[in-house]
Amino acid sequence: MTETGTLFIVAAPSGAGKTSLVRALIEDDPSLALSVSYTSRPPRPAETDGVHYHFVDRQVFLAMAAAGDFYEYAEVHGDLKGTARSAVQPFLDAGRDVLLEIDWQGARQVRAQQADCRSIFVLPPSSAELERRLRSRAQDSEAVIARRLANSREEIAHAHEFDYIVVNDDFQTALADIKAVIRAQRLRQGLQADRHAGLIAELLGDPAV
Ligand code: 5GP
Repeated sequence: MTETGTLFIVAAPSGAGKTSLVRALIEDDPSLALSVSYTSRPPRPAETDGVHYHFVDRQVFLAMAAAGDFYEYAEVHGDLKGTARSAVQPFLDAGRDVLLEIDWQGARQVRAQQADCRSIFVLPPSSAELERRLRSRAQDSEAVIARRLANSREEIAHAHEFDYIVVNDDFQTALADIKAVIRAQRLRQGLQADRHAGLIAELLGDPAV
């Protein structure tokens, strides 16, 4: 019997450093499948279609939603964002763990469908540092930065809904913390007992082994 993979959700306010953490996680563990979301937001200059997002117009997004193509979707910062079922289910079915970089609304929808998912919320170390990080990206206008700062408080208000909270002060520490969550999940008794059924039987002196 093939083992089903685990869904890991990583959420954070914009500017908490989540994207860099997720990139490092995938680089260090290529067995993790990263879901590329769909969005109605136009691409930023450094973004590539199919890599950072699948960029579609609002009508296409809404048609996909009506067709039931999304595992979850939500309006985030005024744009539609969603995880396609096709970006999740085939990997889970093949026993691969999947990483979702989504907001708290999406996380709620995923939890409702997949009770054994694990959700991690990444916090910046302070408001001042959050603002500094948002400004240093220099991709957005002042008005957008101000809106994101306000939105980040709304996102942080939902941190308590997540299984784990990681503070991204030192990048390597935060990365190790997220890896610890993933590793612990992979060592769960139920999974390990299945994987090592032969070993356990042998250790118990089962004559059939
Ligand atoms: P961005 O800066 O890329 O415009 O927006 C990032 C925000 O959108 C983050 O809060 C991120 O978690 C959220 N987001 C990205 N993709 C998805 C998705 O597929 N579903 C949901 N619910 N949120 C998403």
